[in-house]
Amino acid sequence: MNTPVRLMIHGASGRMGRALLRLAQEEPRVEVVAAVSRRINQRVVDGVAWFSAAEMRGAPDFDVAVDFSLPEAFDPVLALCRQRGKALVSGTTGLAAAQQASLEGASRDIPVLWASNFSLGVALLHELVERAAAALPGWDCDIVESHHAGKQDAPSGTARTLGEAAGKGGATARYASLRAGDIVGEHLVQFTTGGERIELVHRAGSRDIFARGALHAAAALAGRGPGRYHLRELL
Ligand code: NAD
Repeated sequence: MNTPVRLMIHGASGRMGRALLRLAQEEPRVEVVAAVSRRINQRVVDGVAWFSAAEMRGAPDFDVAVDFSLPEAFDPVLALCRQRGKALVSGTTGLAAAQQASLEGASRDIPVLWASNFSLGVALLHELVERAAAALPGWDCDIVESHHAGKQDAPSGTARTLGEAAGKGGATARYASLRAGDIVGEHLVQFTTGGERIELVHRAGSRDIFARGALHAAAALAGRGPGRYHLRELL
């Protein structure tokens, strides 16, 4: 059997981080060697060493950092990956344009993959939206996204990339955001003209779909050369 890919989970105490830690235990291709969160309560949990953000540079050697944190936490983890020559998989949304540019710059030195959504269904939805936009010139295009009350950025990163897909098909998307209860994530892309309407909807029932996609991407990215990778080519 191949040696498992060593992961550092960044944002490990969060909703996504906890799903990643749990599902990594069921995935033989990966092994979590470090967990990082803003603050820590315990040094070792279930055999994994935890580090606060301030201590992250002391984390042991890893092959891929998997980052689901917040925009303010992103620059240090990218810098660490670049300094150590290690790969980065990130699903953190709400990044500033300068942070996306840093990611692009880092891809000259290390393998990087950032995706606003790690689910297979949303990857397909992008294609459907682009095709629908191209087939329906002049129709209104509206993207309505709903998430749990704790989500900080709006519109969601997924809504923005769906809007980019609509743009490739020639439509200009408008956005509406709802923040309520514990909704994991819903995206409705609606094309409307006089007398008729098409709705394309994706509903995420569990964060596990994103965590599984990210762990798969991390396993697939390890050992590759520097570059900017896309989820579709690794799925
Ligand atoms: P959360 O608020 O539950 O967790 C955030 C995590 O980041 C925590 O572990 C926290 O300790 C850590 N953190 C905060 N500040 C930090 C700092 N300065 N340094 C280090 N760590 C720090 O958030 P969540 O719901 O788990 O979502 C995390 C991110 O993932 C968000 O940007 C969210 O939009 C995104 N997300 C992406 C996808 C996807 O498929 N791409 C899916 C779900 C969520």
